[in-house]
Amino acid sequence: MNNIAEQLSLAYYNLNEKCNVLATDNKVVALIAVSKTKPVAAVLEAYRAGQRLFGENYPQELAEKAQQLSDCQDICWHFIGPLQSNKTRLVAEHSSWVHSIDRLKIAQRLAEQRPAHLGKLKVLLQINISNEPTKAGILPQQLPELAAAVAQLPQLELKGLMAIPAPGDSERAFAAMQQLSLQLQQHYPQATELSMGMSDDWPLALTYGATMIRLGTAIFGARDYKQE
Ligand SMILES: *Cc1c(COP(=O)(O)O)cnc(C)c1O
Repeated sequence: MNNIAEQLSLAYYNLNEKCNVLATDNKVVALIAVSKTKPVAAVLEAYRAGQRLFGENYPQELAEKAQQLSDCQDICWHFIGPLQSNKTRLVAEHSSWVHSIDRLKIAQRLAEQRPAHLGKLKVLLQINISNEPTKAGILPQQLPELAAAVAQLPQLELKGLMAIPAPGDSERAFAAMQQLSLQLQQHYPQATELSMGMSDDWPLALTYGATMIRLGTAIFGARDYKQE
């Protein structure tokens, strides 16, 4: 295993440098360490190195890790994967953020199942910005309707948008997301977050206004799905 603490400090160094170059006006960019498929020990290693924001893709895995790491009370879990209705409760009970809302029904279930003592669940709407037939997310033209409906739900707080561009489409997609985000903020001033950029393309995402980047491989090394 490579050294997670070193990878983290390198990632923060690169992120700060890029923010300085872009003069992002001290706007804080959140680095979410995507720990999906990685063991609890890897999350703990990153936690001990100071990392607090973690991303998970599978509800069951999120719930198990959150329970095993319940002593680390200041961990902030971000659910970033596809979400089926029968798994919403796990996410409502264990995460602080959900990046992948693309159906009203899922948002409604999360709102109903969110335990009151945890406060509002912060949500981002996922946009299928490269218009890929088999991919998650709504099309840009569906945003006004979904945003209006989600913004009404109790126990949820609409915080912004998320996207995963198709390979080769990053720059156009990031630029389009920046425009959509600005449009959304005209109606929902608190929806300022823009979750885009992964290990391979985060510097480009930052130039188009990303406020949250999601790094898996760059922090934890390559994933081995065969071991799951
Ligand atoms: C796995 C995943 C990431 C991390 O990808 P890397 O290329 O390993 O950085 C980010 N976002 C989402 C939605 C993911 O599923």
